[in-house]
Amino acid sequence: MTKITQYLQEAKGKTLFSIEIIPPMKGQHLGELMSHIEPLMEFKPPFIEVTYHREEYIQKIVNGVSTRIPIRKRPGTLGICASIMQKFQVDAVPHVICGGFTQEETEDFLIDLHYLGIENVLILRGDQEKGETHFIPKQGGHAYANELVGQVKAMNQGILLHEETESLPTDFCIGVAAYPEKHFEAVSLEEDMRYLKQKVDAGADYIVTQMFFNNEKYFDFVRKCREIGILVPIIPGIKPLATLKQLEILPEIFHLEIPEALASEVKKCDNNAAIKQIGIEWAIQQGKELIQANVPALHFYTMSKSDSVRAIASALF
Ligand code: FAD
Repeated sequence: MTKITQYLQEAKGKTLFSIEIIPPMKGQHLGELMSHIEPLMEFKPPFIEVTYHREEYIQKIVNGVSTRIPIRKRPGTLGICASIMQKFQVDAVPHVICGGFTQEETEDFLIDLHYLGIENVLILRGDQEKGETHFIPKQGGHAYANELVGQVKAMNQGILLHEETESLPTDFCIGVAAYPEKHFEAVSLEEDMRYLKQKVDAGADYIVTQMFFNNEKYFDFVRKCREIGILVPIIPGIKPLATLKQLEILPEIFHLEIPEALASEVKKCDNNAAIKQIGIEWAIQQGKELIQANVPALHFYTMSKSDSVRAIASALF
């Protein structure tokens, strides 16, 4: 297994292709997800990221008593990582989140990853529980991603939470998230970037950005990061727009702006196929400019669908 940083170094300035997938809804087969990954393997992604989805709570009557039950709608991150590595011989990068985990549970999860031969992790805080107004860590869990980065870094130095003696060190390469258009909770981009620097100072080796549709936001963000001493690779995240509804929901969910030029083209379309094509063309233009700027990789948010990303990758790689 190879570290993301090593892939980037070995690429010697050539932009790599990578993807993020999401586990299927509980009860669905893995086959459909695999059939969407397969056509993208032609473009040789050295790594595939797999998202992690925390529990949600449902209210159910159990023995006549209304009971709050935790369920995870998209479990299976670890199993999917193992399947991908076995089937496609690529590195799988699980997302590891603070939400819903105590530090001890996190430690055990990281040990499972280590035993599986997984050497890359993307460390995240996670969002607030559904129905909550803000993120609340599980008792004994981490409140921010930088703390979890610190825990992984400590394990890399052979330090476990409660062991008296030094353990065999792990060797995780650590990625973290960043937001060219600011994380929604931060009062300013500058404040958000100070916290990003904290994650890098705690041990993050590379950064993956939230999706953006205006490359200027990414270029500006990278310039500002370099100015404050964030020097690790910053991988841009790209999502091809595919439906009219996304004009509304992507800004709402991900707190980003969709350029007027893209929005107006989408609004002129009278069917989804036409919108998809606009999304593909926009992402190709974004990709061309980003590749020209020698970005380390183009990281595609596939939402576990391959057709748009395949068309874009065919034009770019
Ligand atoms: P943090 O870096 O902890 O930042 C959260 C907020 O707190 C920011 O506003 C920051 O400015 C502020 N902050 C940070 N550190 C401190 C501090 N020490 N003190 C005070 N304030 C601080 N979510 C999932 O649940 N599963 C996934 O698989 C997943 N994958 C993602 C992949 C990418 C590439 C991205 C960009 C996001 C992903 N998310 C995922 C969403 C992510 O969990 C949310 O955006 C979450 O709200 C923030 O996570 P973070 O790691 O950036 O948090």
